[in-house]
Amino acid sequence: MNGLDGKTAVVTGGGSGIGRASAKRFADEGANVVVADIDAETGRETVDLIEDAGSNATFVDVDVSDLESVERMVDVALDAYGSLDFAHNNAGILTGFADVADIDADDWDALLEVNLKGIWTCLKAELAVMAERGGGAIVNTASESGLVGMGGLASYSASKHGVVGLTKTVALEYATRGVRVNAIAPGPTNTNIQSRMSGDGDPSSMEFDTSAMIDVPMDRIAEPEEMAGAVAFLCSDDASYITGHTLPVDGGQAAD
Ligand code: NAD
Repeated sequence: MNGLDGKTAVVTGGGSGIGRASAKRFADEGANVVVADIDAETGRETVDLIEDAGSNATFVDVDVSDLESVERMVDVALDAYGSLDFAHNNAGILTGFADVADIDADDWDALLEVNLKGIWTCLKAELAVMAERGGGAIVNTASESGLVGMGGLASYSASKHGVVGLTKTVALEYATRGVRVNAIAPGPTNTNIQSRMSGDGDPSSMEFDTSAMIDVPMDRIAEPEEMAGAVAFLCSDDASYITGHTLPVDGGQAAD
């Protein structure tokens, strides 16, 4: 892909799922990769996978909801590789399925802290550096739930609609400063996100909502590598006139 070779990319949530696939893809394209995750064990595993394939990667322990931690992440990229050209702001959580009136207040706050504030912290830290150094490209991970409502996912859907709005707004703010900002909206993807849900949940309602989520025209869920391809494209020079967009990568769900 044009324009990724020799550059530096940071990927949050790089220890698992979509983030791991994205980190590996950046590395395959010749970029140095900073793998950022709250889970040091899986984050370091991603680094090992990249290094075993002959590319450069560095792990940094990050909680995206904490601005200081995210600023450290950017410093690690600059210290390790001398630049920050791309960011995939991808870390996110799903705390469970519930009707809006049944959502626990702590769960609401926890989800918004990671999924929405965690995108803002990253943008704030990354944009300062990118704009000052002449540009870059950022991709935020939203969701199909950021484009349409999905029953049982009020806090998640609200956070992802927020990511879409942040993406549009920041793209406008930085359009003349050399930084493109886009998002992907994954459809259901084969990752660990559901197995990480907090609380016991109600298995019967989870089953209901999971089946609703996989109502996909292509009749299959995605593999994380299919998200990584879209991220690489949006960061590449081939997307040089694309900013402010959220690209559905969803097997046709958004068209339905
Ligand atoms: P995943 O659980 O496999 O990976 C998420 C990663 O984020 C994990 O490595 C986790 O440790 C990390 N993480 C969680 N909280 C963090 C924090 N506070 N700071 C730093 N890292 C943190 O899930 P995934 O499916 O790969 O999710 C990646 C993104 O894709 C999320 O934003 C998710 O909302 C979004 N998404 C996923 C799907 C899907 O079906 N899997 C669909 C739409 C959108």
